[in-house]
Amino acid sequence: MTRATRARINTDAIRHNLTRVREIAPDSRVMACIKANGYGHGLVDAARALKGADAFAVACLEEALEIRSAGLSHPVILLEGIHRASEIPVVRDNGFEMVLHDPAQLALLESAGLPQKLWLKIDTGMHRLGFRPEDAPAIRERVQRQGLAEGPLRYMTHLASADEKDGTPDPAGQIDRFLKLVQDWPGERSIANSAGVVDWPQSRQDWIRPGIILYGVTPFTDRCGQDIGLKPAMTVSTELIAVKWVEKGGRVGYGGGWSSPRDMRLGVAAIGYGDGYPWHVANGTPVLVNGRLSRVIGRVSMDMITVDLSDHPEAGVGDEVILWGADLPVETVARHAGTIPYELLCGVTRRVKFDVE
Ligand SMILES: *Cc1c(COP(=O)(O)O)cnc(C)c1O
Repeated sequence: MTRATRARINTDAIRHNLTRVREIAPDSRVMACIKANGYGHGLVDAARALKGADAFAVACLEEALEIRSAGLSHPVILLEGIHRASEIPVVRDNGFEMVLHDPAQLALLESAGLPQKLWLKIDTGMHRLGFRPEDAPAIRERVQRQGLAEGPLRYMTHLASADEKDGTPDPAGQIDRFLKLVQDWPGERSIANSAGVVDWPQSRQDWIRPGIILYGVTPFTDRCGQDIGLKPAMTVSTELIAVKWVEKGGRVGYGGGWSSPRDMRLGVAAIGYGDGYPWHVANGTPVLVNGRLSRVIGRVSMDMITVDLSDHPEAGVGDEVILWGADLPVETVARHAGTIPYELLCGVTRRVKFDVE
């Protein structure tokens, strides 16, 4: 008998989500973001499911090389570009595209003198990566004068708050600054992340860069994947390994912070923060026991949680407990854990068995 804690990855759902994204943005090409191990779904499994995308976007060279090793020949974009000179020939030999966002990278490219496929990143207000709009024309000039771009130079910016209502910086302002800056420059443009794809039509330019929506999950706090026609691709589940009665006033779990309001039936499920089910999950967070709603009681341990079986008289050892997935949105669980769904998806640990279906 092995531990029952598993993450089922539904690759049909990922394929469906790509189709749905193309419906929403029919005029844009899709750069599918599969960084961070395909948002926790498995980098190569995600890439294979998304092979209908026009390109893949990753955070680093290691991830890009994994895509090539899997035999996929799509364009691959390094969203953070390169960090040291030794990466430059590897990027070039594999035909990867890189984002150029910092003077230090430009200096590396200048000393290598090897032209690369380049995206010039403009910081329109997020203040993470990118050149300031006022510096961009000179940078562009410098790249072109030295012939550092293989093929046409392309342009990218990133929205900081497109997933929020009345977010700051205002996405419309960011979009506007970007489009004004590049209006006379030939070359493809890219603005939209998932939130942009869904809520900001103006951000759907030549290329969109969806990430989380491809996995069936939204970046919003007021809508789940299903609400916009997506199918969640990851279901995390385990089973009950013990069932017991606790009497009124009995304290449950580390710290004894939760005490039973009455005589109650509890179940112990084999999942904890050692599997990526966060310690910050609050008492009362929903789970499904045999497909029906229950809740976490007390603190999350490393390997176990306790759940309320008051309304599950039939539940016994070996029965299924779902932590998030198709019938329990990870967006909801994230809210109860004071985090975002991205972190939950990326955080499932190696101890969990992945079943790719
Ligand atoms: C990760 C990332 C995306 C995708 O973001 P989602 O919110 O998952 O859609 C797009 N663009 C850049 C630059 C990113 O780093």
